[in-house]
Amino acid sequence: MFCPKCGKSDQVAESYCRQCGFYLPNFSAVVNREVPPEEHLKANTVLSLMTISVSFTLAILLYAFFGFRTNTHPLIYVTAGLLLGMGGWHIQTLIRTLKLNKQWSRRKPLYQADTLTGSCNTIPLLDQAQFESVVPDTATQHTTKPIQPDVHRQVR
Ligand SMILES: [Zn+2]
Repeated sequence: MFCPKCGKSDQVAESYCRQCGFYLPNFSAVVNREVPPEEHLKANTVLSLMTISVSFTLAILLYAFFGFRTNTHPLIYVTAGLLLGMGGWHIQTLIRTLKLNKQWSRRKPLYQADTLTGSCNTIPLLDQAQFESVVPDTATQHTTKPIQPDVHRQVR
Protein backbone atom coordinates (compact mmCIF):
# COMPACT_ATOMS: atom_id res chain seq x y z
CA MET A 1 0.00 0.00 0.00
CA PHE A 2 0.92 3.67 -0.34
CA CYS A 3 1.39 6.12 2.50
CA PRO A 4 -1.64 8.51 2.44
CA LYS A 5 0.57 11.38 3.70
CA CYS A 6 3.75 11.32 1.59
CA GLY A 7 2.82 8.73 -1.06
CA LYS A 8 5.75 6.34 -0.47
CA SER A 9 4.98 2.89 -1.94
CA ASP A 10 5.50 -0.66 -0.58
CA GLN A 11 4.24 0.05 2.93
CA VAL A 12 2.91 -2.46 5.43
CA ALA A 13 -0.51 -1.77 7.00
CA GLU A 14 -0.76 -1.29 10.80
CA SER A 15 2.81 0.07 10.93
CA TYR A 16 4.58 3.43 10.50
CA CYS A 17 5.64 4.90 7.16
CA ARG A 18 9.34 4.28 6.48
CA GLN A 19 9.73 7.76 5.00
CA CYS A 20 7.60 10.17 7.07
CA GLY A 21 6.63 8.11 10.12
CA PHE A 22 2.86 8.47 9.57
CA TYR A 23 0.79 5.65 11.13
CA LEU A 24 -0.76 3.48 8.41
CA PRO A 25 -4.08 1.94 9.52
CA ASN A 26 -5.35 -1.32 8.05
CA PHE A 27 -8.19 -0.11 5.88
CA SER A 28 -9.17 -3.59 4.68
CA ALA A 29 -9.93 -4.62 8.29
CA VAL A 30 -12.48 -1.80 8.56
CA VAL A 31 -14.19 -2.87 5.34
CA ASN A 32 -14.46 -6.52 6.44
CA ARG A 33 -17.95 -7.27 7.75
CA GLU A 34 -18.63 -9.25 10.89
CA VAL A 35 -19.44 -12.93 10.55
CA PRO A 36 -23.27 -13.21 10.61
CA PRO A 37 -24.76 -15.14 13.59
CA GLU A 38 -26.15 -17.84 11.28
CA GLU A 39 -22.58 -18.74 10.28
CA HIS A 40 -21.54 -19.17 13.92
CA LEU A 41 -24.61 -21.33 14.58
CA LYS A 42 -23.92 -23.46 11.51
CA ALA A 43 -20.25 -23.91 12.50
CA ASN A 44 -21.28 -24.83 16.06
CA THR A 45 -23.73 -27.45 14.78
CA VAL A 46 -21.14 -29.08 12.51
CA LEU A 47 -18.42 -29.04 15.21
CA SER A 48 -20.77 -30.51 17.82
CA LEU A 49 -21.83 -33.29 15.44
CA MET A 50 -18.17 -34.07 14.66
CA THR A 51 -17.18 -34.11 18.34
CA ILE A 52 -20.12 -36.37 19.23
CA SER A 53 -19.36 -38.91 16.51
CA VAL A 54 -15.58 -38.93 17.09
CA SER A 55 -15.79 -39.26 20.88
CA PHE A 56 -18.43 -42.02 20.82
CA THR A 57 -16.54 -43.94 18.08
CA LEU A 58 -13.28 -43.73 20.05
CA ALA A 59 -14.99 -44.83 23.26
CA ILE A 60 -16.57 -47.83 21.51
CA LEU A 61 -13.23 -48.76 19.90
CA LEU A 62 -11.43 -48.52 23.25
CA TYR A 63 -13.99 -50.83 24.89
CA ALA A 64 -13.96 -53.23 21.93
CA PHE A 65 -10.18 -53.61 21.74
CA PHE A 66 -9.06 -53.24 25.36
CA GLY A 67 -12.14 -53.53 27.52
CA PHE A 68 -13.22 -56.48 29.67
CA ARG A 69 -9.81 -58.20 29.68
CA THR A 70 -7.80 -59.28 32.65
CA ASN A 71 -4.74 -57.10 31.98
CA THR A 72 -6.58 -53.87 30.94
CA HIS A 73 -5.03 -50.77 32.49
CA PRO A 74 -7.60 -48.69 34.45
CA LEU A 75 -6.63 -45.60 32.45
CA ILE A 76 -8.31 -47.18 29.41
CA TYR A 77 -11.64 -47.14 31.27
CA VAL A 78 -11.03 -43.59 32.50
CA THR A 79 -10.27 -42.42 28.94
CA ALA A 80 -13.31 -44.19 27.51
CA GLY A 81 -15.49 -42.69 30.26
CA LEU A 82 -14.16 -39.19 29.57
CA LEU A 83 -14.86 -39.66 25.86
CA LEU A 84 -18.44 -40.73 26.62
CA GLY A 85 -18.85 -37.72 28.93
CA MET A 86 -17.52 -35.37 26.27
CA GLY A 87 -19.90 -36.85 23.68
CA GLY A 88 -22.82 -36.41 26.09
CA TRP A 89 -21.82 -32.84 26.84
CA HIS A 90 -21.72 -32.03 23.14
CA ILE A 91 -25.18 -33.56 22.64
CA GLN A 92 -26.63 -30.91 24.96
CA THR A 93 -24.54 -28.23 23.17
CA LEU A 94 -26.00 -29.42 19.87
CA ILE A 95 -29.58 -29.33 21.25
CA ARG A 96 -29.02 -25.78 22.56
CA THR A 97 -27.53 -24.67 19.25
CA LEU A 98 -30.51 -26.08 17.34
CA LYS A 99 -32.92 -24.28 19.70
CA LEU A 100 -30.96 -21.05 19.32
CA ASN A 101 -31.01 -21.49 15.55
CA LYS A 102 -34.81 -21.81 15.61
CA GLN A 103 -35.17 -18.71 17.82
CA TRP A 104 -32.78 -16.79 15.63
CA SER A 105 -34.58 -17.57 12.39
CA ARG A 106 -37.85 -16.45 14.03
CA ARG A 107 -36.35 -13.11 15.13
CA LYS A 108 -34.15 -12.51 12.11
CA PRO A 109 -36.46 -9.99 10.35
CA LEU A 110 -36.08 -7.62 13.33
CA TYR A 111 -32.32 -7.63 13.12
CA GLN A 112 -31.85 -7.75 9.37
CA ALA A 113 -28.82 -5.72 8.44
CA ASP A 114 -29.16 -2.96 5.91
CA THR A 115 -26.91 -3.98 3.03
CA LEU A 116 -26.29 -0.38 1.92
CA THR A 117 -25.37 1.31 5.19
CA GLY A 118 -24.33 -1.74 7.21
CA SER A 119 -26.53 -0.56 10.05
CA CYS A 120 -29.01 -2.70 11.94
CA ASN A 121 -32.76 -2.23 12.33
CA THR A 122 -33.47 -3.42 15.85
CA ILE A 123 -37.18 -2.52 15.90
CA PRO A 124 -39.78 -3.02 13.17
CA LEU A 125 -41.25 0.09 11.62
CA LEU A 126 -44.60 1.28 12.93
CA ASP A 127 -47.72 0.96 10.81
CA GLN A 128 -48.83 3.88 8.71
CA ALA A 129 -50.96 6.32 10.73
CA GLN A 130 -54.72 5.97 10.16
CA PHE A 131 -56.24 9.43 10.26
CA GLU A 132 -59.78 8.22 9.38
CA SER A 133 -60.26 6.87 12.92
CA VAL A 134 -59.05 10.03 14.67
CA VAL A 135 -61.67 12.54 15.96
CA PRO A 136 -60.54 15.99 14.85
CA ASP A 137 -60.36 18.61 17.64
CA THR A 138 -62.54 20.98 15.56
CA ALA A 139 -65.52 18.74 16.40
CA THR A 140 -65.35 19.78 20.08
CA GLN A 141 -63.74 23.17 19.62
CA HIS A 142 -66.91 25.25 18.96
CA THR A 143 -69.53 23.15 20.78
CA THR A 144 -68.09 22.94 24.30
CA LYS A 145 -67.16 25.67 26.70
CA PRO A 146 -64.11 25.28 28.92
CA ILE A 147 -64.99 25.09 32.64
CA GLN A 148 -64.16 28.27 34.52
CA PRO A 149 -64.70 29.05 38.24
CA ASP A 150 -67.46 31.61 38.96
CA VAL A 151 -65.44 34.13 40.96
CA HIS A 152 -68.20 36.76 41.47
CA ARG A 153 -70.65 34.37 43.19
CA GLN A 154 -67.96 33.36 45.70
CA VAL A 155 -67.30 36.97 46.76
CA ARG A 156 -70.97 37.88 47.44
ZN1 LIG B 1 4.77 8.57 4.53
